Amino acid sequence: MKKKRIATTSLAGCFGCHMSLLDLDERIIELLKFVEIDRSPLTDKKSFTQRCDIGLIEGGCGNEDNVHVLQEFRRNCDVLVAVGQCAIMGGLPVMRNAIMHSEDPLRECLEEAYNSGDKIYNPGNEIPNDPALPLLLNKVYTCVDVVKIDYQIPGCPPTADVFWRALNGLIHGDFAELDYALIKYD
Ligand code: SF4
Repeated sequence: MKKKRIATTSLAGCFGCHMSLLDLDERIIELLKFVEIDRSPLTDKKSFTQRCDIGLIEGGCGNEDNVHVLQEFRRNCDVLVAVGQCAIMGGLPVMRNAIMHSEDPLRECLEEAYNSGDKIYNPGNEIPNDPALPLLLNKVYTCVDVVKIDYQIPGCPPTADVFWRALNGLIHGDFAELDYALIKYD
């Protein structure tokens, strides 16, 4: 069987989903019999070397760089998978969408984070504004708000067992619904 080529990225996420993927431990060796990893923080490849079969997306879109990367993954991957709650629903970053008291919610959010929030020590009252920083979006968008998503792997993060089951399904072309016991978190 020809190996599937996989790419992964972390957008507005915490890298916890990637950490959970590494929790596959020795099963990674088994996985690598069937896949090659292309662009990914796991390989430190910053760009695609060729078209990929599967793209795994952690995190939603909080800045313009996230949007560009997500669109690039859509263009370069046959199947695109939203991994974890941040990619599927926005996760913790989407909480800033609830800040809407003023005419400029983004400014209000930054003021809270850098100046007026409890336990903030910022004597210069400066808010980071280096032009090299990616432009923050007015709100956080989920992956499906920006591009077509083919599958979702739920969890915060999805457990290694969920990854194992889902990746095997994707690799062998029989991605079935995940068992309730695997995605039940209460
Ligand atoms: Fe981190 Fe959870 Fe978001 Fe994954 S879903 S990036 S673990 S906060």
